[in-house]
Amino acid sequence: AEAALIVAKQTSRNMVAYNPAIKMATEENISLLGQLKHALKMGQLALHYQPKVEIDTGKIYGAEALIRWEHPSRGMIPPVKFIPRAEQSTLIDVITEFVLEEAIRQLSVWQKSGIDVSISVNISTRNLLQPGFTDLVVRLLNQYDLSGELLELEITEGSLMVDVEHTIDELKRLTRLNIVISIDDFGTGYSSLQYLHQLPISVLKIDQSFVRRLPEDQGAVYIMEAAVVLAHNLGLKAIAEGVENKQIYQFLATLGCDMAQGYLIAKPLPPEKFVEWYGQYAG
Ligand code: C2E
Ligand code: CA
Ligand code: CA
Ligand code: CA
Repeated sequence: AEAALIVAKQTSRNMVAYNPAIKMATEENISLLGQLKHALKMGQLALHYQPKVEIDTGKIYGAEALIRWEHPSRGMIPPVKFIPRAEQSTLIDVITEFVLEEAIRQLSVWQKSGIDVSISVNISTRNLLQPGFTDLVVRLLNQYDLSGELLELEITEGSLMVDVEHTIDELKRLTRLNIVISIDDFGTGYSSLQYLHQLPISVLKIDQSFVRRLPEDQGAVYIMEAAVVLAHNLGLKAIAEGVENKQIYQFLATLGCDMAQGYLIAKPLPPEKFVEWYGQYAG
């Protein structure tokens, strides 16, 4: 009976190994990455820009570049559908290079036409650990004749935990070029509280999962309050993402949060729409 049981277990294990659904999922993944590579070549990847404003003055602080896949038949594909999968392969290196170059090119175009905003770019864990990442940024800034202070890199907490020493070194090299480093999605994922004071960062971006629940949810209020105080005590600016209404904006003002970003101010916009928005907002 025992032998029969072992055979049964092995059979079920084999059935898992050859499960056609899993095989299909893998094939689908490979084909998605293939299509993504093709999309990059065909110019189907584009950046949209979402403004960030200073809460007390209302002044425009900058814009975040957010990637979009403009698929010819499937329409606009949001980054959650392809970035996580690209991050599991070397394709994310190519995508980040595209995003950086496109954002820096846009910066240079906007600077020349009097649109004085800094641009932030989302960086994946892998990118920072990749040798030559800082050199790539330097090369692109030089190519477009821009100084680093107009560029901000948004890094998630989790990515800082992988190789702390190396990451701190790379970040220090970047900040020597006056590039601004911010912690994205603060309060989610792994906590890097232990390293926060060692990192050459200047902005804490508090995750929208807390922001959206203000001001009714007392837990979210405590976390938001604490995050703003923590940021200020560390000499950092605090920014809230996902600000969807006036009530939240006002509440953030009373907490002393420095900046806000969200649909209340504007959705992520394609470059020409961003320029339109900028003209109306600033003018
Ligand atoms: P994230 O960096 O946390 O970006 C914020 C997300 O919230 C964006 O979604 C933005 O469109 C959305 N958002 C902004 N304001 C509001 C609001 O008021 N309400 C709501 N409900 N949502 C708001 P998006 O553009 O779909 O991007 C999702 C995530 O994909 C980003 O999260 C980021 O982690 C990743 N991502 C986007 N672009 C890039 C990129 O170029 N490179 C990498 N590595 N990741 C990217
Ligand atoms: Ca971000
Ligand atoms: Ca977020
Ligand atoms: Ca995120």
